[in-house]
Amino acid sequence: MNKNSHKYLLSDLSNLRGVGKKTESLLRKKGINNIFDLLWKLPKTYTDRSYTSKIKDLKIFEIQTVSVTPLKYLFPRVRNLPNKVLCKDDTGQLECIFFNSYEGYIKKILPLGKIVTISGKVSNFRNKYQITNPKYISENEDLIKTKHNEYSLTEGISQNIYNKIINQILLNLPDLKEWHKQHICKKFNNISWNEAIKELHKAENIGQHSKNFYQRLAYDEIFSFFLVNSEIRKKIKKIKKQKKIFNNSIQENIISKLKFKLTNDQIKALIEINDDLKSENKMFRLLQGDVGSGKTIVSLIASLNSIKAGFQVAFMAPTEILARQHYNLAKELFDNKINLDLLSSKSENKEKKITIKKLNENKIDLIFGTHAIFQNKIQFKKLGLVIIDEQHKFGVNQRKKLSDKGGENCDVLLMSATPIPRTLTMTIYGDMDVSIIKEKPKSRKEVKTYSKLDSKIEDVLKFVKKEINNDNQIFWVCPLIEESKKIDHESAVSKFKFLSKIFPDQVALLHGKTDFDEKEKILNNFLKKKYKILVSTTVIEVGIDFPNATVIVIENANKFGISQLHQLRGRVGRGSKQSNCILMFKSNLSENAKKRIKILKSSNDGFEISEEDMKLRGYGDILGFKQSGVKTFKLADPIHNSDLFKIAEKEINRIEKVNEDISNFKPLLKLYDRADIINDIV
Ligand code: ADP
Ligand code: MG
Repeated sequence: MNKNSHKYLLSDLSNLRGVGKKTESLLRKKGINNIFDLLWKLPKTYTDRSYTSKIKDLKIFEIQTVSVTPLKYLFPRVRNLPNKVLCKDDTGQLECIFFNSYEGYIKKILPLGKIVTISGKVSNFRNKYQITNPKYISENEDLIKTKHNEYSLTEGISQNIYNKIINQILLNLPDLKEWHKQHICKKFNNISWNEAIKELHKAENIGQHSKNFYQRLAYDEIFSFFLVNSEIRKKIKKIKKQKKIFNNSIQENIISKLKFKLTNDQIKALIEINDDLKSENKMFRLLQGDVGSGKTIVSLIASLNSIKAGFQVAFMAPTEILARQHYNLAKELFDNKINLDLLSSKSENKEKKITIKKLNENKIDLIFGTHAIFQNKIQFKKLGLVIIDEQHKFGVNQRKKLSDKGGENCDVLLMSATPIPRTLTMTIYGDMDVSIIKEKPKSRKEVKTYSKLDSKIEDVLKFVKKEINNDNQIFWVCPLIEESKKIDHESAVSKFKFLSKIFPDQVALLHGKTDFDEKEKILNNFLKKKYKILVSTTVIEVGIDFPNATVIVIENANKFGISQLHQLRGRVGRGSKQSNCILMFKSNLSENAKKRIKILKSSNDGFEISEEDMKLRGYGDILGFKQSGVKTFKLADPIHNSDLFKIAEKEINRIEKVNEDISNFKPLLKLYDRADIINDIV
């Protein structure tokens, strides 16, 4: 194989000496499928076996290295007794003890009269130095007198095998041609990829995250990821669509009828979206904004503009109740020349068929529904815009599919109420353009946040009573108490019983086991104020507007991260009344918990909070992003490497601007990124 090609790295594990079928399948189970994957198997620690000692100076109970000459084999003729080999140097004698080893093997590794270097833990038995079952033995002292890396061994592969195969890879590491420009290399002291990998595996470099080799490799990862995103963006932009032509006076008419004034951020987002609609390039945009920042109205105005340009619009929500809420709002806002419909799982089959037929005949302008509106049997006549609400859990591949499904003329707008730090936005939504609504409506009063110990529940109940008397509604959240779903469920049930005694007929219960229809019914009834208190586990729907709810009580609040608490807090404070969030705790707060509460009390800005949350908990944990298929880097970290993210972003912008040829990066992309997307590109 060519010494300068990346292909060696992508080749099968079976190309490694010492890797048999069994090791290969164990490695595969760990997601290590080729040689490149093994490069990221890093030592956790190491044992330094480089210093040798004379026998007389050996220290008992320590790992020592010593060069000796085997003198005599002591192989007992009795079963279960260990084999021994007596060795010496010019200062004394030492016994190597072997349990369960064949005589032939022992003779081979410890030949009489030769000098052999041995490393292992030294013990003392009846005044004799001993090393039991030494694993590090060789006539070549260089192989022993060195630092030996130690790996985490959950896979059932020994240290020896890891050391052997990884050393083998490092010896054969191809000399790859530098893919970065000089001004980038300079930032990492010009260390090459090849050198950097070698440094990465050196025992003494464990944990040296700020060194140039580590930074360069982390940068490579971030950059390749950004480059793929940039190519996807470019590819989407190349799709020419029919421009949407509409008159701005239509939206002015709607805006003038609203009970409120749009915020500056809403107006800015709307301008960005309208520009996309009017352009001949397909829109692929994320509208990101804190809970309650008013994304719905922006998306409905964009819908109206698309309809006036002669297209159909599909508006997808994660739940029926939310779809229905959006549908009702549209009915209220738009005049009856706009044909609206709701595709509900509850509609009669006959009714559904009519809706589907109408969509196909372009007799419906705007359809609301859950993911059901993307079934195969539903064909639009002239779909021009797809809007997907509360969609922060889609991966890049799913988003791409969605964009393809809409067809060439179809613009795509995703909306997410999950504010996340900028480095994460770049990671998760790097393939999209992003509009951000940071500003909250002016009329809105900030939710007041309190913390209370469980023992003060009487105070909380008193407060709740007062709110109910003022005709306000309350959310009461009982989160996970134990790891078991059953207990979790029971805690909500018992809280429901407890509250029902105090507030008879005014409490409803919602939990993980409530079935779909029942859940919708309960939420609808709560919306219609049939209940005053809704006790629930954390299943309260995202996005639904309950303007009449003014209190959210969150029990066992330390079970949540601050971003989650902020999301839950966003369930209230949507009307003009003062709202309150009461965080309850079982016992006195730890320092960490106090810190988190302080952040929550002092800020109502989801972006700021998520930034703090990320610092406290690491990026994988905030809002469960780790589970949602978000790219996780091997070395890079959106918290600690935000500077590298910035460098990569700047470099990508430069490359895009001058339309630079990216073929130099081919090996980088092939090595680091997901083949399915790359095949489309390079
Ligand atoms: P989200 O961004 O979480 O989806 P919504 O679009 O549901 O938020 O809006 C939340 C509430 O705020 C709705 O009742 C909506 O009518 C109201 N709202 C939206 N924009 C404004 C504004 N500029 N001023 C006052 N209220 C607004
Ligand atoms: Mg919403």
